[in-house]
Amino acid sequence: MPDHAPAAAGRRIALIAHDNKKQDMIEWAEYNLHLLAGHELFATATTGHLLQLQFGLPVTCFRSGPYGGDQQIGARIAEGEIDLLVFLWDPLEPHPHDPDVKALLRVAVVCNIPMACNRATADFMISSPLMSRSHQPWDPAAARDRPDQVIPTSAPIGDEDIGSDRPALVPAATRASPG
Ligand code: PGA
Repeated sequence: MPDHAPAAAGRRIALIAHDNKKQDMIEWAEYNLHLLAGHELFATATTGHLLQLQFGLPVTCFRSGPYGGDQQIGARIAEGEIDLLVFLWDPLEPHPHDPDVKALLRVAVVCNIPMACNRATADFMISSPLMSRSHQPWDPAAARDRPDQVIPTSAPIGDEDIGSDRPALVPAATRASPG
């Protein structure tokens, strides 16, 4: 396995739930408790503390979302330090930190990390067979800046028959610094 491929187990998962979605997050975590064990969990402050209290899960907490927590998680995604995001944002209420929410959604898409914004998608994501296999990330910034480093497949490692017609990919380890 190439040394740039992320480890199959022990994914770094960021969890965020807006206030009207916190109950959803609790129920989702309870339903998937056995799947969450073994992964490294990160969260915004209130979401993380709730998960710690309810289930005793070890969670690294950032600031609360409205106080910069979404931006802290977004920065870690950009640094390649978060592998998956479960972001139960509330589509029915305006929030003071809506610009941060938009920025977080954007950076997760730009960095091509798996992101679930509702419980159903989060269920599918956490139970995906790819959770226990190596998966090669696609880094569009590196693809643009370092065309010499492009590798010709996005297939999960060991699945050469899948994805050979997909766009060329670059491992996150070759990411060029911004600027
Ligand atoms: P919280 O932040 O977990 O501290 O409530 C979530 C958010 O509102 O983005």
